[in-house]
Amino acid sequence: AVEVGGGDKEVVKEYFNNSGFQRWKKIYGDTDDVNKVQKDIRLGHSKTVENAISMLLDEGPITGLTICDAGCGTGSLSIPLAKEGAIVSASDISAAMVAEAQKQAEEQLEDKNAMPNFEVKDLESLDGKYDTVICLDVLIHYPQSKADGMIAHLASLAQNRLILSFAPKTLYYDLLKRVGELFPGPSKATRAYLHAEADVERALKKVGWRIRKRGLITTQFYFSRLVEAVPA
Ligand code: SAM
Repeated sequence: AVEVGGGDKEVVKEYFNNSGFQRWKKIYGDTDDVNKVQKDIRLGHSKTVENAISMLLDEGPITGLTICDAGCGTGSLSIPLAKEGAIVSASDISAAMVAEAQKQAEEQLEDKNAMPNFEVKDLESLDGKYDTVICLDVLIHYPQSKADGMIAHLASLAQNRLILSFAPKTLYYDLLKRVGELFPGPSKATRAYLHAEADVERALKKVGWRIRKRGLITTQFYFSRLVEAVPA
């Protein structure tokens, strides 16, 4: 396992067990008590999940494939993957998130055999081998110096495919972020890090992976670069 220690991880864990949990559970849910910004982020995120699922299904059915959903949140991706017949291992650094994902899965999955295997674990200490590893909207919480190790570790768990999403660092988004137009709202307590696509690509290349497909999801307040990597 790689060590992605330091302040960031503890702060992130604490946030997603408390105020961050409340905020993101609402955004990822379907209730009406969200403001305009949260509603926009909900829409953007749901598109990222949809795009990730289409990237997977483009290559054929996922029935019986082992998939690791690293940083599963409330199960937005894990549950549909389980419905498609994948054998899902879902984990998150936040116990609150994992409990919520488990509850959602129990409510939504009729076939109890399809239930993902849920675990409270940071992605750096995951082990085992999976056909596919997916990590959506997690890297935003870590600077590139930490992200490199996380990407290398996730790639080491994947046999055939690694799907990642991250907030792309471009001149335009950097500027917006600086003037404070992005990531608005008082409850956005953690730092957000953008990642240059070239840096992510370099991190993948270092461990012998290449990007095969790319997608970009943007709404007014949400933006995410989606990449599918395969062994080079
Ligand atoms: N991937 C989910 C989705 O797209 O619906 C959740 C995205 S949410 C913005 C970020 C999630 O990453 C949170 O649930 C948080 O607890 C989790 N997380 C942050 N750092 C992590 C780490 N080092 N290992 C595992 N999970 C982590």
